[in-house]
Amino acid sequence: MFGQVLKSSKFIAIGVAAAAGTLALSACGSSSAGPSSSEGAGTCPTTPINVVATTNVWGNIANQLAGPCAKVTTIITSPTADPHDFEPDSTTSQAYTDAKLAIENGLGYDAWSDKIIASLGSSAPQVLDLGTTVGLSVGDNPHIWYSPTYVQESAAAITSALKGLLPDGASSFDQAASEFKTNLGPYLDEVASIKSSYSGTPIGSTESIFVYMAEATGLNLTTPPQFMTAIANDSDPTSQSVATFTNQIKDKQIKVLMYNTQTDGGLPQQMLTLAQSSGVPVVDITETLTPEGASFQQWQLTQLQNLSQTLASGK
Ligand SMILES: [Zn+2]
Repeated sequence: MFGQVLKSSKFIAIGVAAAAGTLALSACGSSSAGPSSSEGAGTCPTTPINVVATTNVWGNIANQLAGPCAKVTTIITSPTADPHDFEPDSTTSQAYTDAKLAIENGLGYDAWSDKIIASLGSSAPQVLDLGTTVGLSVGDNPHIWYSPTYVQESAAAITSALKGLLPDGASSFDQAASEFKTNLGPYLDEVASIKSSYSGTPIGSTESIFVYMAEATGLNLTTPPQFMTAIANDSDPTSQSVATFTNQIKDKQIKVLMYNTQTDGGLPQQMLTLAQSSGVPVVDITETLTPEGASFQQWQLTQLQNLSQTLASGK
């Protein structure tokens, strides 16, 4: 598996001296304004490494999977800014210089990361492109962390990458992987619960963020795909897709509107306002961890519980 991951990436593992990085990173704290670092409790059986992740979704998952064997620095942490519009600065590339492993979402979501890697030449960290790892390519929906299947496949790929870099930490990584799997339980149960109660229920979404979760929960996401993809790509949906979506909301053909609060642009807000005035319930969802300090599981579970309660009240 690990070999495939490396071969499928454009970038090849390159040895990196990261010893000097620890000091620079420790000053960053956990502010939304810049990269944020954390490392797990306990003792690593070997010397820990520095890992960088493009968003705090993958950073939090990597942190859970690395435990005490890595310091994970996350680049995108703000729950209010739109990650699709992120632009790196000098603190961003410093985190890469210090890292042995860079975890990317891929699929064009964090293309800026590829540019940093390319600019670092021989001092670039090894890259793990999760979108490629789960078998997708640029042009596919990049929101893979909204798919329980892709999340578990990505976690396995992260564990493999960590083991490859720190073979002496293998038992520690196995233990962390097992705990991670256990901690996914309530989230996976909630997905299954929604599926058993509400499969086929028509819903809407202001952006393509909810496509994979709609599939997992069996909900019928009726919003024109062209609308959702255009919003994600910061382009203009066709007037036809806007009209179709507008009618679906106005005529209450959907039971709930999933509203991505982290999307820039006037059209999603217009649809939110229309849903509110039409009496269509709205459930907020976000691109990155909300609140910023939540774990992946806490964050996803809360959103799914909100959805479940909203669907229950509209039954
Ligand atoms: Zn998005």
